[in-house]
Amino acid sequence: MMRQFELVERVKRYDPGADEEALNRAYVYAMKMHGSQVRESGDPYFSHPIEVAGILTELKLDHNSIITALLHDLVEDTEASLEDIERLFGRDIARLVDGVTKLSRLELQSEQTKAAENFRKLVLAMSEDIRVLLVKLADRLHNMRTLNYVRDPEKRRRIARETMEIYAPLAERLGMQRFKDELQDLAFAELNPDGRQSILNRLEFLRRHGETLPNTIIDQLKRALDEEGIEAEVSGRLKTPYSIWKKMQHKNVAFEQLSDIMAFRIVVTTIGECYQALGVLHSHYSVVPGRFKDYISTPKPNGYRSLHTCIIGPERQRIEVQIRTREMHDVAEFGVAAHWKYKQGAMQIDGRQYRWLRELLDILEHASNPEEFLEHTKLEMFQDQVFCFTPKGDLIALPRGATPVDFAYAVHSEVGDTCVGAKVNGRIVPLRSPLQNGDQVEILTSKNQTPSPDWEKFVVTGKAKARIRRFIHMKEREQYCELGRQLLHKVFREEGYEFTEKALNEVLRRFKADSLDDLYAAVGKGTHTAREVLVAVFPGARTPARLRRKWPFARSRTRPAATKSTGLPIKGLIPGMAVHFAHCCHPLPGERIVGIVTTGKGVTVHTIDCETLEAFQDTPERWIDLTWDEEMNGAMHIGRLKVVIANEPGSLGSLSTIIGKNQGNISNLKIVNRSVDFFEMLVDVEVQDARHLSDIIAALRAMPVITSVERARN
Ligand code: MN
Repeated sequence: MMRQFELVERVKRYDPGADEEALNRAYVYAMKMHGSQVRESGDPYFSHPIEVAGILTELKLDHNSIITALLHDLVEDTEASLEDIERLFGRDIARLVDGVTKLSRLELQSEQTKAAENFRKLVLAMSEDIRVLLVKLADRLHNMRTLNYVRDPEKRRRIARETMEIYAPLAERLGMQRFKDELQDLAFAELNPDGRQSILNRLEFLRRHGETLPNTIIDQLKRALDEEGIEAEVSGRLKTPYSIWKKMQHKNVAFEQLSDIMAFRIVVTTIGECYQALGVLHSHYSVVPGRFKDYISTPKPNGYRSLHTCIIGPERQRIEVQIRTREMHDVAEFGVAAHWKYKQGAMQIDGRQYRWLRELLDILEHASNPEEFLEHTKLEMFQDQVFCFTPKGDLIALPRGATPVDFAYAVHSEVGDTCVGAKVNGRIVPLRSPLQNGDQVEILTSKNQTPSPDWEKFVVTGKAKARIRRFIHMKEREQYCELGRQLLHKVFREEGYEFTEKALNEVLRRFKADSLDDLYAAVGKGTHTAREVLVAVFPGARTPARLRRKWPFARSRTRPAATKSTGLPIKGLIPGMAVHFAHCCHPLPGERIVGIVTTGKGVTVHTIDCETLEAFQDTPERWIDLTWDEEMNGAMHIGRLKVVIANEPGSLGSLSTIIGKNQGNISNLKIVNRSVDFFEMLVDVEVQDARHLSDIIAALRAMPVITSVERARN
């Protein structure tokens, strides 16, 4: 087990500015908290976080990552809480430890969660700071190195499978070749010990029969490069049993060539020298066609750069050679971690939190072919996602910003419709709170609940939006139907006709309605007036009974406006001139009025305070002075109201009830604005005079569901 001073020394060696005091404190704190816990190997538990920290010093990670490694199992396995860690080591480290803890909890989720691709994405997405993932990978690597101590064979296999399917590909994704190789090979040893052993036996056999071969080749390659004045480090490395096994599976043949088991590597100083070295090899030895690859000009998506070639080497053996610079070599071995090292100076200058993921994306941005671009886009895409779980451990992927309501609808429409509350990680939260990666979400439902129009404001998924809108729409339609039916009932009764569904069914087609409800809704919405429907059913009802008695011209749109002066309740008109009541101000008896003459159209009657009159200020000759004829009262006039009313069940019905109780009659109704909370609408009411309308306004203002009522002016 690495001693405290050794660890600190290692970090100081590559990062002299590291916080020595904090490293020491973390070491001591973790040791104290893990106390006498032991691992299955019999080692003190504390040896594990120290080894993990040790692995990370090989990647030359910053001291916060090392401290995180030391503390990474505390929250899950000891009394220490995240709050304790934040108090003792600051928010940054607490955040990192929290990330690693969450990743560890994922391992406990159900099998369904682990469709490998989803799970890999999940892990990557949850590591908003890539350091979290690096600590996790080191944690896994150490657990794999000590896997043989785990007694339960089921558990061993599970961990090995997970490593093979999830963590090794993640390491590869981050360009960490060395991590990937070791993770795969350790998993291979558990999952297929016989297969691995047969490879090892074969390797041993080959070694015995050509023991000195690799060194001879290395020497000769080095000499060839020396002659051309290229200073290079040449090495040969055995491929891992797992990668040989994979290749054997692929080629379906036994391996016997050196190129099957070894890779030679030439490390030079500059990119120029890479191509020079390639030239030397290709001129000294025969080239195996079709095997040359230039990953320098076109790096792999994970940032890997090198030249690959295959030649018939000095010993007439076919050999694979990789040529790269020192920096490329470090990136090939350590991936993003190496990249961090080369950018460390920049990080210290701007002093901001280094964004690993940003860096990874930068690497990916260098990718130049479409395939790599696609990879890149995919990665960015799931940066916009959050991954959450049901209590059973099923994975639900949602867009960033999604709320428990979105989650509920993603689980099932029913669940969404009846959702009353949500518990996130066991705590009740407001339905509008955005979910975080790794949240476990439990939706509370009630059979009596229906979607709230409020939800529409904060949900982000299309599915939730569509369902909520559909529901609101349905509710509204119910209201319109009810209102329309009331309006029809009323007008039929008042005009002395019998209201029967049968009669209405006869005229459905004329109003382009498919059902009675359609027709009711159309009347409720104001698409058709109740009177239009009445006239369609009983053509004899063309003129309203009361108006027939008093004032044949009122609202009679079909009839030409030729008038006799005697028929109008207005004094001062020119006989024979057509009269209209202005739609901007809807003048009523009791109000001061004025007429404006328009050639060919007659007189339009406005209230004296109507804003429209401003337009006629320069043409006084068109104004005529009018007054109401007091003796003609009793006729009905249209007053137009602007009403803002709560959008709740029954509110429109009670509106029409109140107006009816006050002897008013709704002749038309039009929704001009609709929000989730309110209707804003124009209501035309037949009244006797301005005072009558004022009474109705007062009565409406007394209703709780009404927000405001006023005369509609323009
Ligand atoms: Mn651990």
